Amino acid sequence: MLYEELASTYDRLESTSSRLEMTSILADFFRQVEASELRQVVYLTQGKLNPDHVTEKLGMADKMILKAIVDASRLQESYVNDLWMKEGDLGAVAEKVAAERVQTNLFSQPLTLDRVLTNLRSIEGAEGKNSQTKRIRLLTSLLHDASPLESRYLCRTVTGRMRVGAASMTILDALASAFGVKEDRQDIERAFNVSSDIGAVAESLARDGIEGVRGIDVQVGRPVRSMLAERLSSMEEILTKLGGRCALEYKYDGIRVQAHISEDEVKLYSRRLEDLTANFPDVVESLRSSFKGQAAIVEGECVPVDLKTGRLLPFQEVAHRRRKFGMEEAVRDYPVKIFLFDCLRMDEADMTLRPFSERRTALEENLEESEGLLFSRLEIVDSVAEAEDFFESALVAGCEGIMAKSLAENSVYRTGNRGFLWIKYKKDYRGDLNDSFDLVIVGAYTGKGKRKGLYGALLMAVHDPETGMFQTVCKLGSGFDDAFLAELPGMLEGHRSSGPSDLLSTRMEADHWFEPAIVLEVMGAEISVSPTHTAAEGLLPEGSGLAVRFPRFTGKVRDDKSAEQATNATELLTMYRGQTSTSDSGASAKF
Ligand code: AMP
Repeated sequence: MLYEELASTYDRLESTSSRLEMTSILADFFRQVEASELRQVVYLTQGKLNPDHVTEKLGMADKMILKAIVDASRLQESYVNDLWMKEGDLGAVAEKVAAERVQTNLFSQPLTLDRVLTNLRSIEGAEGKNSQTKRIRLLTSLLHDASPLESRYLCRTVTGRMRVGAASMTILDALASAFGVKEDRQDIERAFNVSSDIGAVAESLARDGIEGVRGIDVQVGRPVRSMLAERLSSMEEILTKLGGRCALEYKYDGIRVQAHISEDEVKLYSRRLEDLTANFPDVVESLRSSFKGQAAIVEGECVPVDLKTGRLLPFQEVAHRRRKFGMEEAVRDYPVKIFLFDCLRMDEADMTLRPFSERRTALEENLEESEGLLFSRLEIVDSVAEAEDFFESALVAGCEGIMAKSLAENSVYRTGNRGFLWIKYKKDYRGDLNDSFDLVIVGAYTGKGKRKGLYGALLMAVHDPETGMFQTVCKLGSGFDDAFLAELPGMLEGHRSSGPSDLLSTRMEADHWFEPAIVLEVMGAEISVSPTHTAAEGLLPEGSGLAVRFPRFTGKVRDDKSAEQATNATELLTMYRGQTSTSDSGASAKF
């Protein structure tokens, strides 16, 4: 297959923002791809070479890419540099340069997908002393033979910013449509959720049809996309929603870990599917020594403990320390306890489709509690009074609230999904409208006065999983301390973009723009309807969005959440509706 076919598909994808149109472009394309090539084609469409849980090492520094563009074109470095200053996007620079060079390059060979993959894999694998030169040479060789359009996407791929907007859900829709199994879309999504490998799902569908996809199950060593919780703001609502009786657990304020235990190793994955094994040697040891079976996948929250007082500490304190002093000190000074709360596989059994109580029993029967490993504190309640008591005891124990869990027959582990089988209830949800949100940084404003030379405020967004877009929700300027303000530019540098991200829907202006990547926890006093923000647009009358008023940074960078896992548009709308139904002010119209 020629790389040109991929590049022209990406170009068509980029020129539309309609999800339906993207789906149909991708479906037409997937239909023409050989089964043996589909896996890689799907990864590449997301700007990657591997499934989500494999750490990508493909990214090249901008300067190195620039050097490859110069070498391939033999143009003056200063000329290409100026172009970069003007365009801001290396893909656009490479495209322009290739267009200028096109007539003079008589000896170029058409680029095949195979060749592109071979070179990209070598770029990924380059190590050691001359690795930089080697990477530049490999990219130069591709650019030498690339058309302007191909040059655009080759450079975007190695910058790690494809910007064609093909979210995983759109790719799954397109696969279902391409292979004529739209009615089995749910099975395809489940296969993706349990394997976290969209390429493997695509290949299996192309080779073995929907039966192949149904055969993809939970495997030790392959992280499962986590189940997520909804939220409600009163215990009455929670109990009613869960049928008058439910399990309550402490909600520990730590970092979620999915542990994959086999006979020879224990691997820990974050909620973003990153491999965290090296970060928690103490947790690995606790799991190894307390597990009595052969193989399992269990989930829990890792919480640092203060050695002197034995109290649980907010995870942020340790994350901060780690950035400053390094991992070893953090492990020594703040040992971590893991509080296990779920079981996704036990020996041969896939537990994800079993009810919650069975999963909890499997956990308790196959692992033993120890100093560093405990089961999450749990109580079954059927009255608001009992629930409130449990909530108070959670706060006293240093937790941020409670998780209410359904005990119904259908209380499965809903991989990769947010739903009302788990409902979170935190301290800040009670009483007034002090709610916390996890918002993504998409823009920034140049600081003035005391913040001169730094960012003065940030433009924040929520995520809309339906469209894959980010939507602005507030300008955030308070709650920053000096240390955080100083840290921000470094944190954001790698995510800079020349204008609003292609994944952002905005009516706001900003001085600096970023690809959605960094998530901050923000408290807000009220949610209101706004003509300037776009959050939940599409769910509201045309031209209006939702805004978080009086936002304040809590000090918590949500390293554990990817941009797609930020507060979503529907969640915000539900909170807005809850707020208008309880507040006296009647906060304008209800939707
Ligand atoms: P949030 O991050 O606010 O969306 O809340 C959900 C997170 O709470 C989960 O992803 C877990 O990391 C964490 N958590 C803490 N304790 C529990 C528990 N007992 N059950 C489930 N999740 C928990």
